[in-house]
Amino acid sequence: MSKADKKSQWLNSIGIKNSNPHWNLSAQELTDETLRLNQGVITDTGALAVDTGEFTGRSPKDKYVVLDDKSQDTIWWGDVNFKFDSQKFDALHTKIADYLSGKKIYVRDSYACADKNYRLSVRLVTELPWSNLFANNLFIRPSKEELTSYVPEWTILNAPGFKADSKTDGTRQHNFTILNLTKKIILIGGSAYTGEIKKSIFTLLNYILPLEKEILSMHCSANVGKRGDTAVFFGLSGTGKTTLSADPNRGLIGDDEHGWAEKTIFNFEGGCYAKCVNLTAEKEPAIFKAIHDGALLENIRFFAGTKKVNYDDISVSENTRVAYPIHFIDNAVEPSVGGIPKNIFFLTCDAFGVLPPISKLTSGQSMYHFISGYTSKVAGTEMGITEPTLTFSACFGKAFLPLHPIKYAELLGKKLKENKDINVWLVNTGWTGGSFGIGNRIKLSYTRALITATLNGELEKVKFNTLPVFNLHMPTLCPNVPSEILNPRNTWKDKDAYDAKASELAKSFVKNFDQYASEANEEILSAAPRYP
Ligand code: ATP
Ligand code: MN
Repeated sequence: MSKADKKSQWLNSIGIKNSNPHWNLSAQELTDETLRLNQGVITDTGALAVDTGEFTGRSPKDKYVVLDDKSQDTIWWGDVNFKFDSQKFDALHTKIADYLSGKKIYVRDSYACADKNYRLSVRLVTELPWSNLFANNLFIRPSKEELTSYVPEWTILNAPGFKADSKTDGTRQHNFTILNLTKKIILIGGSAYTGEIKKSIFTLLNYILPLEKEILSMHCSANVGKRGDTAVFFGLSGTGKTTLSADPNRGLIGDDEHGWAEKTIFNFEGGCYAKCVNLTAEKEPAIFKAIHDGALLENIRFFAGTKKVNYDDISVSENTRVAYPIHFIDNAVEPSVGGIPKNIFFLTCDAFGVLPPISKLTSGQSMYHFISGYTSKVAGTEMGITEPTLTFSACFGKAFLPLHPIKYAELLGKKLKENKDINVWLVNTGWTGGSFGIGNRIKLSYTRALITATLNGELEKVKFNTLPVFNLHMPTLCPNVPSEILNPRNTWKDKDAYDAKASELAKSFVKNFDQYASEANEEILSAAPRYP
């Protein structure tokens, strides 16, 4: 069979008929297509800028998994994973395929998982050329040779212009992301927010890898030092995974999604998706420099009368973003694989201003904080969040977990037991000197200095103090960081107010942990904060 026949046969098999498919276009071709359709403009540095329309963030309430024999007893059903009827899925699949039929469409063959032992092939069909550019930037790009023998395993149909009818289609509203684990098909409709594409594959890997391969899948960034020492940075949205992993002195493995296999840490992706709000060349040089031709900017605005991006302008969305292939970062590691980590950082953006800028966790505390996944959601990635809100998100990524959080916690616990010399740190990239409204967010330069000192082993030489209530062990000294900020209580003018806030936060921790308490051992339970 000729290549063209094979392709149209595949499209027929997925239900798309008489379309005009454009297969694996280059970044330049996809950019040109976007410009031709008046869906984007070129910035003064050559990047393509688009607006994602109605949705400028993910829509977690509209994410479903098809209920069937495979999913029934494995999925952690509830408010993260909503059930979708399998017949309704088939009907919606037909509708989307019909919608894409007869149209000019963009198809992309890509991989997930940089460790070839676990590689997954994902074929995407997108309605819009820039959604395809996003996939090209974020997923792993097969070589020319790999493309000749490429066999798609998973399929994503992405149709932002297709709107579901909630009355008949079984959705909550017109937009949806639905995973069908048995058919290996993901349907995304009604939303052009590109993050839905990336996080649908993340959700899938969070299912396959722990369940079928005993690999811990992680919502974290990762980088590696000159001595081959890997560091991983867990954290919820806006806590600093992307920002802090871009370090001129270390190789970037990845900024958001990784797997921890027996001997490797590997990136699921082939690119980064960085926040752009208040971006400056001084504060975030690596990211700033990556925004050139081939990069895709979302929902930004220009200085009037120019094509120079005004990163302070968040009139469209707080969640302005740029997507670029990982090699746009100077010291990226490709293939994006590293060794077992030496240091693990849990990033939390604490809008209460209670937690120390950095503290070292005991093994019980490591598990306790991993399961808790505390942060404050800051405005941006999720629709409807406009000011910091207290959140506990298990494993620092509850929204993407198809399995019960304890499954991931067990895997982490096992890895920490097997590798006793791994250090685990809790880093507060959020408020200091008071809660949100009174204090300020800790300076990025201080957080960077704390992490650098940790990675260089400089904190091994200093004395540590213990913060009451949370029992956290805080260094008393760190190069390039004022010592007085290392204990958060010092930074509050009103000490009684600090103590009250600390108790309040501790209570929230304990209350949240209730749901996991029956599964946790004594060591983990004893790591809970104790409040007066
Ligand atoms: P997502 O999962 O949504 O991609 P993320 O964890 O990658 O989120 P970043 O993109 O790194 O989050 O966002 C952190 C934001 O917070 C950046 O805009 C960064 O400039 C800002 N910031 C301010 N102060 C700090 C700090 N002390 N540490 C880290 N980031 C900070
Ligand atoms: Mn990120």
